[in-house]
Amino acid sequence: MKIVDLRSDTVTQPTSEMRKAMYQAEVGDDVYGEDPTVRALEDLGAQLTGKQAGLFVASGTMGNQIAALVHTKRGDEIICESECHMYYYEVGGLATLAGVQTRTIEGVRGVISADKVEKAIRGDDIHQPRTALICLENTHNRAGGTYYTPDCLKAVKVVADKHNIPIHIDGARVFNAAVAQNLAVARLTEYADSINFCLSKGLCAPVGSLLVGTSEFISSARRIRKLLGGGMRQAGILAAAGIVALNTMIDRLDEDHKNAWRLADAIANLGFGIDMNTVQTNIVLFEVQSVGMNAEQFANLLENHGIKCSQFGEFKIRLVTHHDIGNEDIDYVIKAITDIFRG
Ligand SMILES: *Cc1c(COP(=O)(O)O)cnc(C)c1O
Repeated sequence: MKIVDLRSDTVTQPTSEMRKAMYQAEVGDDVYGEDPTVRALEDLGAQLTGKQAGLFVASGTMGNQIAALVHTKRGDEIICESECHMYYYEVGGLATLAGVQTRTIEGVRGVISADKVEKAIRGDDIHQPRTALICLENTHNRAGGTYYTPDCLKAVKVVADKHNIPIHIDGARVFNAAVAQNLAVARLTEYADSINFCLSKGLCAPVGSLLVGTSEFISSARRIRKLLGGGMRQAGILAAAGIVALNTMIDRLDEDHKNAWRLADAIANLGFGIDMNTVQTNIVLFEVQSVGMNAEQFANLLENHGIKCSQFGEFKIRLVTHHDIGNEDIDYVIKAITDIFRG
């Protein structure tokens, strides 16, 4: 049976160009700072995002947790969105690793306003923790791949500067945010002190993320990466694929966005509960309650057609488009969902 895997863009296979680059990569011991391919990837990531330096890390989770560790002290508080990845999906790392507590704010489609951020910042009352960091997720995963505009980011930056608080962007899919708005990614990173982005999602690299920021921030981050066991040796084998990802896979994200929109439009026309305003990039999030099913029942019916999805809570299904999903796969999925709908 045909398998169409829409669980996540993390399932993407490395391209043949990546595999070739991995085979040919010049490598060295990166803990000694001697891997030229890792260095080249870190420089490329820093340059694209307009930052001084970059650090190749094993995963997005590792990059985010390192950022929290560098920016905060134990007992501090960080402001973040109520369903953000750092809070929701990182195994309580903010508590166990950085020892910080979270002040969660509900966003509008994942986006938190400068005004709400400002209201959540603590004063100098000695009873209160210190607000040490503001985290923004762009694009926002659980909200359905929604993005921040440069204006929203700038407004948060004005508030952050007023209170002297750094901003970290969890930009696992920040290139989707950039392509969807037809912007250079640097327009979305300029208001942040640090940004983490994934090479291993829509960009199709097999492994890794990049954390970028000032040279000073990155040298602290490099020590913390070692502490977490993330000092890798001939990691240029992996970084080589990351370079190909950044050089060849960004612009094509637009195809994933078009496929997501076509899929979402068909789902909306059938009468499923879907907020088309959330369909901004490569994620389609919809409710199956309106057709008298829960997420598990619906996922099982999709599975019968060879279609894999993610369940988000009791009634929501998430479908993610990516490089390994073509137009004909979208046609196939629309037909299957139509058949399921008609019973
Ligand atoms: C996937 C993801 C991460 C973490 O990436 P891993 O490489 O899976 O650890 C962080 N933030 C967001 C928003 C993500 O979607």
